[in-house]
Amino acid sequence: MTAHEHDQPDELLDATAIIARDLIRFDTTNWGEGRANSETEAAEYMAAHLRALELQPELIDSEPGRTSVVARVEGADRSKPALVVHGHLDVVPADPAEWTVDPFAGVIRDGMLWGRGAVDMKNMDAMIITALQEIIGSGRRPARDLVIAFFADEEAGGVLGSGHLVKHRPELFAGATEAISEVGGYSITLDGQRAYLLQTGEKSLVWAKLIARGRAAHGSRLVEDNAVTRLAEAVAKLGRQQWPIRLTATTDRLLHEVARLLGADPQEVGPDELAIATGTAAGFIRATLRTTTNPTVLSAGYKHNVIPERAEALIDIRTLPDGEDEALAQIREIVGDDIEVQVLHRDIGLETPFEGPLVDAVTSTLQRHDPGAQVLPYLLSGGTDNKALATLGIKGYGFAPLKLPPELDFPGMFHGVDERVPLDALTFGRQVLTDLLLSY
Ligand SMILES: [Zn+2]
Repeated sequence: MTAHEHDQPDELLDATAIIARDLIRFDTTNWGEGRANSETEAAEYMAAHLRALELQPELIDSEPGRTSVVARVEGADRSKPALVVHGHLDVVPADPAEWTVDPFAGVIRDGMLWGRGAVDMKNMDAMIITALQEIIGSGRRPARDLVIAFFADEEAGGVLGSGHLVKHRPELFAGATEAISEVGGYSITLDGQRAYLLQTGEKSLVWAKLIARGRAAHGSRLVEDNAVTRLAEAVAKLGRQQWPIRLTATTDRLLHEVARLLGADPQEVGPDELAIATGTAAGFIRATLRTTTNPTVLSAGYKHNVIPERAEALIDIRTLPDGEDEALAQIREIVGDDIEVQVLHRDIGLETPFEGPLVDAVTSTLQRHDPGAQVLPYLLSGGTDNKALATLGIKGYGFAPLKLPPELDFPGMFHGVDERVPLDALTFGRQVLTDLLLSY
């Protein structure tokens, strides 16, 4: 049975769903560490849609096959600073054996679009294109100039996508001061009330390698200086470390708003408890109250009866904005002097105040489409291409608007199994985005 048997005829599908489905069918898997499928076909597909709107997209290859697309849209008021509206074309790997459906078939089932990228972030890529189709196709213009960008390589830190472009082609973003993109704008349900999380900041990241060194020896010997044992101790300490809660302006505001909506007293209910009350978003939000140090990869040894001289572990460290150096110093103390800590990659954190004309426009647009909706700021535990754009002074927000049913664990599907998005949420998202771009 092929997955395509589940297709609905295109005429029954909304334009946004069709484009998101088409994008899922390009397998743009990015495994990281230099291994990735090409984004070129997906980029060509997006460029064709942009050209159909009489725009002039530019395709930029950082390396053969690693293609990003950028196009500029003239706004009604050209004196306003430009807004970057961006998405990424790559996705993380998906193991078909774990999925209910083929992750790259773009299956429509139970009123939802399923597939790798349905959540992160081919949904928003499709919303961006179809919002432009609504605006330009009806002879209108966005309120201000837009820089539309679809980046390669976001899932490996963006070095070959947004990172490449801000470094080598900064003129593409000339005049832009703000950006909107992924991992924000979706709704959660708090005590029966729908609230949308506008992402106004991102934690910093440090990807570190721990190295324990010892002396290679026969596995039968009495050895006190075993590299594997010492590494395992360090890994366990970091993995179990209870990092203290520290609120930033964003998380403080978020928790106050959550407490207000729940009718709770933030003096009485602790930050973790308030975060847990956000339901499906708690996994993201609890991680933004503190540093996290998650061991993710272990490697050591090559033979059952040989003690290796070296053992290594990768630790994914996420600190609050500007907390990288302090956390690294503490990590070195926790693991001790005989473990080497190598920093393989690090990137800045971001935090933007939850105020100003863009925040007002997002709030009023959402409330027009979903009367009574609350809009709350939140800090992202992960990172996005907004980090690269920040190096050009562009303030980035996560706003890919989706009105979701309360029972759907949307945050849990980022990089998860059975990624899926309701079809009506895609339509809602396009309509909100269209209105925002017309009015802001
Ligand atoms: Zn993403």
